[in-house]
Amino acid sequence: MSNLRRFPALLLILVLLPSGAVATPQTYEADLEMVSRIRDEGFERSELPDTLSYMTDVLGARLTVSPGMRRAQRWAIGEMERIGLTNIEIEPFMDYGIAWSNDYVSLHLLEPDYQPMVGYPLSHTPGTDGALQLDAVVVDSRSLAELERWRGRLAGKAVLWTPPAVIDLDRINRGSPSRTNEELRELAMPAPPATPRTRPEPGPDDLDDGERMAFFKSEGVPVLLESRSGWPGAVRGFGRPGTKVDRWARQESLDSLPIVAITPEHYNRMHRIVSRGIDVRVEVEVRNTIGNEVQQAANVLGEIPGTDLADEVVMLGAHFDTWHASPNASDNTSGVAVMLEAARILTALGAQPRRTIRVALWSGEEQGIFGSRAYVNRHFGDPASGTTPAYEKFSAYFNQDYGPGKYRGIYLQGNEAARPMFEAWIAPFRDLGVTTVSIRGVGSTDHVPFDGAGLPGFQFLQDRAGGTGGHTNMDFYDTLPIDDLKHNAVVMAAFVYHAAMADQRVPRKD
Ligand SMILES: [Zn+2]
Repeated sequence: MSNLRRFPALLLILVLLPSGAVATPQTYEADLEMVSRIRDEGFERSELPDTLSYMTDVLGARLTVSPGMRRAQRWAIGEMERIGLTNIEIEPFMDYGIAWSNDYVSLHLLEPDYQPMVGYPLSHTPGTDGALQLDAVVVDSRSLAELERWRGRLAGKAVLWTPPAVIDLDRINRGSPSRTNEELRELAMPAPPATPRTRPEPGPDDLDDGERMAFFKSEGVPVLLESRSGWPGAVRGFGRPGTKVDRWARQESLDSLPIVAITPEHYNRMHRIVSRGIDVRVEVEVRNTIGNEVQQAANVLGEIPGTDLADEVVMLGAHFDTWHASPNASDNTSGVAVMLEAARILTALGAQPRRTIRVALWSGEEQGIFGSRAYVNRHFGDPASGTTPAYEKFSAYFNQDYGPGKYRGIYLQGNEAARPMFEAWIAPFRDLGVTTVSIRGVGSTDHVPFDGAGLPGFQFLQDRAGGTGGHTNMDFYDTLPIDDLKHNAVVMAAFVYHAAMADQRVPRKD
């Protein structure tokens, strides 16, 4: 709408050079007419709830290279076509390992009191040999001497092999996930030095989980039960011990014991009964499909083509892969839906960005940030080992992966030079609570490989997620803050649009 007034937000930045001379002031402005149109499209005609519902309800979990992931990637390509992206491709990036999926779980406490239990197998473990009714024992020590005391007494027993889970009651009692102004002020400042995490020192004869599992297998144990979740009602289960070393290999997966992670309440109940010296009997049946051959993991990419600066690139992305015990609505289905919705908003508005805007839906993030790292290596390189021509032409990457909480600002990732731009671009969202440009750097997700290669890569500062967390069996559509995610898609669309239109690329760290 051309009759909308433009309110350029001017920021004058005076940079004192070492000589004391004053550099040319730089001005950045938000395109308020475009921001207004993005807000209108993103809040009044949002397709994000429908996208999120389809992804969580119909597509479900997306473990890297699993059949569910393949199906979801085919859907993503159709979705990118539907919203008008171009150059859409599935780009393989590594020989990953075998596919694995869970087909069936049935888990019950039979004695001393019947109760159905909630559990889920760790990935890349085999199923059980049918439905097994077993006595349970607790062998949760890591000490070889302690294990030796059990030699010859474990055949045919279900072994509870982790200590009782400690439930974090603060998670229930925490109240509002919104960040207070005081918290935001603190987050804007450099992070205080981290207190190193203290882990109990392993004893001289302590075994790791792989060694313990080998012992239990040699003793004829048919299944291991565990709980490592501190979250009420939630199963947290990841990959079999050793997968990172054997690279999700078929033989090691077949050779593993079945391992079933259980909610802390159900697991702890069994643990306490056994510890009283009262017999616990369980029934467990697990069926899994273990793939035959190594599969290539792949990222999905699509673009809004640029115009006069088409060879320069602005990227937005989120990891498409999830752990396997739920659709992982928060981690990171919400991030993927935000990226697709941000791109949809821009194509719906007929945006003609100067730079190319590229959407990336990564894979292999949960196992070690593999997809985005391989992408950065292949397409941009890094100064230590050599860069590609695309390296210089790259502007910035924007990521979401800290749950579904509302954007309240952005982390500069230590890149003070980007502050004036980001201050200008968040200015039109102050009324929505986006206020904070923090100098801090944050980690653990897909902007890290960009940052590590010296490319501008950013993660937004988000409200904490309410409801259940990621990596659990309890992460569904119902606990997503849908309005906050619409907000995130609007802010994301505006950021990538401004980055694609600015007179210069997002500056890099010194
Ligand atoms: Zn994640």
